[in-house]
Amino acid sequence: MALRYDAIVLGARCAGSPTGMLLARKGYRVLVVDRATFPSDTVSTHIVHPPGVAALSRWGLLDRLEGTGCPPVHTYVFDFGPFAITGSPGTDEYPAAYCPRRTILDKLLVDAAADAGAEIRERFTVEELLFEGGCVMGVKGRSKGGASVSEQAKVVVGADGRNSLVADAVRPEHYDEKPPLLCGYYTYWSGLPMHGRFENYVRPYRGFAAVPTHDDLTLVIAGWPYSEFEANRKDVEGNYLAVLDLVPEFADRARRGRREARFVGATVPNFFRRPYGRGWALVGDAGYNKDFITAQGITDAFRDAERCATALDEFLSGARSFDEAMRDYQRARDEQARPMYELTCQLATLEPPPREMVELFAATSGNQKAMEAFVRMNAGTISPAEFSPENVREIMSAAHARSGSSAGDQF
Ligand SMILES: Cc1cc2nc3c(=O)[nH]c(=O)nc-3n(C[C@H](O)[C@H](O)[C@H](O)COP(=O)(O)OP(=O)(O)OC[C@H]3O[C@@H](n4cnc5c(N)ncnc54)[C@H](O)[C@@H]3O)c2cc1C
Repeated sequence: MALRYDAIVLGARCAGSPTGMLLARKGYRVLVVDRATFPSDTVSTHIVHPPGVAALSRWGLLDRLEGTGCPPVHTYVFDFGPFAITGSPGTDEYPAAYCPRRTILDKLLVDAAADAGAEIRERFTVEELLFEGGCVMGVKGRSKGGASVSEQAKVVVGADGRNSLVADAVRPEHYDEKPPLLCGYYTYWSGLPMHGRFENYVRPYRGFAAVPTHDDLTLVIAGWPYSEFEANRKDVEGNYLAVLDLVPEFADRARRGRREARFVGATVPNFFRRPYGRGWALVGDAGYNKDFITAQGITDAFRDAERCATALDEFLSGARSFDEAMRDYQRARDEQARPMYELTCQLATLEPPPREMVELFAATSGNQKAMEAFVRMNAGTISPAEFSPENVREIMSAAHARSGSSAGDQF
């Protein structure tokens, strides 16, 4: 009997809708399901760095995002106290980041998948996967208040977030796991203009960041180490404001504005999961999750969607075997993600950087070329691997030449 769908995608946010959209654009029959309805919010801040913006542009969706009035962010600032590093995060072609509310971004993505011809089923909760001889054949679930329904496809894609039901059912290998390292709380402020800047303040065992979003609001997230999660959760507001008070000029700016929303908090584990097996694939957080301190999740979900859709097209069109195509998907994902994953986990400890790192940051702060490279690395526009020992030596010797100090000898 012919299957009704080539692919069922479970989850319709940053990973699921683009995967469904890209497959549908190639002519495949796709069902995208989510227990949520759209527009709806989710627990996440929402910076989309320039590589994510480039993906939206490739998909023809950047104009739509810009049409929602989301302000562009063209400058990132990393303030370490005694010095700051300021630069532009993008490339000549995609110079800006955006910080769209998830209510707006995710709805735009779901609509784009529907426009491409994917069938979207909102308010549909998948309860289990269907297997035959160890191979995933489909899903079983129900619409709110409805009867149980089974749907079958050649492949089931888990885009269902870090607590993925698909991953629970297929039990993929986990690797490079690290426990939760940081907890963060965010809210939105009015009357706190940012002038297109994403400001990050780094202090020992504390950090916060502020970025403009829709409706003239500014998103401000503050964090502390996971070891303080239990103690601090009794007074989130007090602890959050105490972090802002570490930078009195910023705290004054915030207090001249007004908090417009309740606090939302999260702490997440760090892991990679093998993203494919017989009849199934994982994209986005379901396959690779990391702390939010470097704000890479949405951009990574977009990358996964493109790579996974390409691999599934190769399989579904008969050009390659499923295993060959998906092995390449996993290899490309891991190669690209690993350096940023290591950096993210290191930053998420909020431990003060070692002395030689502080010296490097200080040397970077006076050197525009180095500042641009540092900011682009943090945006994921260039890989941390490209911030190479040669670059570091160059930065340090430039600082040495400027100051006549011995900083360059430290490396
Ligand atoms: C506090 C915090 C701040 C963050 N800040 C940023 C940031 O600034 N920038 C950034 O890029 N990333 C950020 N991230 C990460 C980002 O939120 C995620 O990487 C991104 O949402 C992953 O998208 P996804 O589509 O893989 O999963 P999700 O967004 O988790 O979507 C999964 C979807 O699957 C659906 N689903 C799950 N199970 C089922 C089921 N059984 N049946 C039906 N539907 C189901 C859910 O309803 C949900 O809609 C942050 C995360 C957190 C926690």
